[in-house]
Amino acid sequence: MSESKSAATAAYRPETRLIHSGVLRSQFNETSEALFLTQGFVYDTAEQCEARFKGEDPGFLYSRFSNPNISMFERRMCELEGAEAARAAATGMAAVTTAILAPLRSGDHVVAAKAMFGSCRYVVEDLLPRYGIASTLVDGLDLEQWRKAMRPNTRTCFLESPTNPTLDVLDIAAIAEIAHQAGARLIVDNVFATPLWQSPLQLGADVVVYSATKHIDGQGRCLGGIILSSNDFIQEHIHNFMRQTGPSMSPFNAWTLVKGLETLAIRVRQQTQTAATIADALAQHPKISRLIYPGRADHPQAALVKKQMRAGSTLIGFEVKGGKAAAFRFLNGLKLSRISNNLGDARSLVTHPATTTHQRLTPEARGELGISEGFIRFSAGLEHVDDLIEDMHAALENA
Ligand SMILES: *Cc1c(COP(=O)(O)O)cnc(C)c1O
Repeated sequence: MSESKSAATAAYRPETRLIHSGVLRSQFNETSEALFLTQGFVYDTAEQCEARFKGEDPGFLYSRFSNPNISMFERRMCELEGAEAARAAATGMAAVTTAILAPLRSGDHVVAAKAMFGSCRYVVEDLLPRYGIASTLVDGLDLEQWRKAMRPNTRTCFLESPTNPTLDVLDIAAIAEIAHQAGARLIVDNVFATPLWQSPLQLGADVVVYSATKHIDGQGRCLGGIILSSNDFIQEHIHNFMRQTGPSMSPFNAWTLVKGLETLAIRVRQQTQTAATIADALAQHPKISRLIYPGRADHPQAALVKKQMRAGSTLIGFEVKGGKAAAFRFLNGLKLSRISNNLGDARSLVTHPATTTHQRLTPEARGELGISEGFIRFSAGLEHVDDLIEDMHAALENA
């Protein structure tokens, strides 16, 4: 097995790195990455095996720890993100849970923005306190709330931006500074922005996590997640935890995700353009009371979007007039965009957060987040934008 000639691709632009970074070729010199669907590896001698377990021989040991496909995925993501090290995980939630939990112990404190993916909120709000780790949820847009929430034992701050599903944009650089002043680290869930449009590490965050299930796969095939950070953070906090507790990525999924990365830039760019066009087409629609799109000038944090992101988003949030009944009539009336809780797919997908991803929350908690009964999250796919707009207009007629 040899490293590709292009292994050091850091000088290239993202599109180039997405094709060439991290390739490991076998003795057959295959064009496309080979699939190493193996649990383990054999050793030439007992001495080599011993050396490998001691970390003195740089080979693979067991696919719970590492595997050529997982390694290729981690390296390609590292170069894209500008991270020193990464560990892939079975799902986005395995990555989030590991990144938050692994460095902490009982007595520590976490501060998180309350607008986040439902399962992330479960980890922070319900799971951590069971192990003696207190948490405070803040309005992520309000820097004063972040400042006030910091305690001497605050170790981790957690946020996602743009937020799910209301697409608020949080000030990563400012929140990183508040966290660092309090001696805490900032973990950013960057799923909605994608590595293409936002680089949290460059903005001052310490750790970035992804659900690779979303745009990185992009074709609805497999689950995956990844944690990216400094060598020190991965070695000190993540490496052993993942190795010993086993929330590892399957080599098959790693192979699929590596192929997904090859087309990430072209897909996300097209989906962003489609989302922007649809947002403009729907913004003034008489049956829509509110539309949020991070690429539009009327986005509540438009200036911050310009400062911290390279483009808008593949997602749009909007409120259909007439509450849940109207929202359901709209969803049921769509012929092209499919009802699903996933996002970032080649198919356009629509979600009703109040009854799905955020149904666990009380109506008051949903109200606080702006998730009304009429609120819809739309994830732009790769269909022709005019077909999508015609489909949405027809469904709105009957909503
Ligand atoms: C989907 C998602 C997750 C969880 O990812 P899975 O791969 O489904 O486990 C975490 N954060 C955000 C923002 C997501 O959209």
